[in-house]
Amino acid sequence: MRRIEEISERLEEVLERIDIAAREANRDRAEIQLVVVTKNFPVSDAQILYELGVRAFGENRDQEGALKSEQLPSDVTWHFQGQVQSRKIKSIASWADCVHSLDSLDHARKFAGCEESKLRDFFIQVNLEPLRADRGGISSEGLEQLLAAIYTETAIRPIGLMAVAPTEVEPERAFALMQEIRERILISFPATAALSLGMSGDFEAAIAAGATHLRIGSSILGSRGLPA
Ligand SMILES: *Cc1c(COP(=O)(O)O)cnc(C)c1O
Repeated sequence: MRRIEEISERLEEVLERIDIAAREANRDRAEIQLVVVTKNFPVSDAQILYELGVRAFGENRDQEGALKSEQLPSDVTWHFQGQVQSRKIKSIASWADCVHSLDSLDHARKFAGCEESKLRDFFIQVNLEPLRADRGGISSEGLEQLLAAIYTETAIRPIGLMAVAPTEVEPERAFALMQEIRERILISFPATAALSLGMSGDFEAAIAAGATHLRIGSSILGSRGLPA
């Protein structure tokens, strides 16, 4: 099978599953955005996805995202979702439209200070595995303080929260916790309403839990050769 047929078939399937999950959750399909994660896949796959109508792409690495974004038309939205490293911030801001993985005041200051920035939207990443410091994200307990500091010290106004479901627990449980955290945050930060949740293995549960942005890679593009 040609690559375009393969990707087209898988994309259709995922879109249909999103439709069904939205209906089952009594949600408006229009408030759920699919970001197709192209990390570790060649730019030719991103170009095929573009031909098939995809306009939102997710990348985890600065260099890879910078290269791919140069080779796709400008009506594409690029989402950075990998761990942010200080020295990459200027470069990320040059090609990404949205960062899903902001988790520190220091990085927020640096993003806000970029002179030539394409960035419009930020999500704060929440770490649902507080015992694993190697995972990106801030603990739920620190969220209000971080958001308050970002509001006071920068012009950044995060549009929502992002999380990756821990592998050891059922995604339903992790996402229910995220719903609670979102409700709590909305009291003080009503603009932080979006939820970036859901990957290939758990996006239906994420839709049921109120996700507005799904980050889906392997169920559309197949399994990645290299770990992310
Ligand atoms: C790789 C990755 C995804 C996509 O994962 P799939 O299982 O391939 O759908 C989503 N979010 C983040 C943060 C990722 O690193």
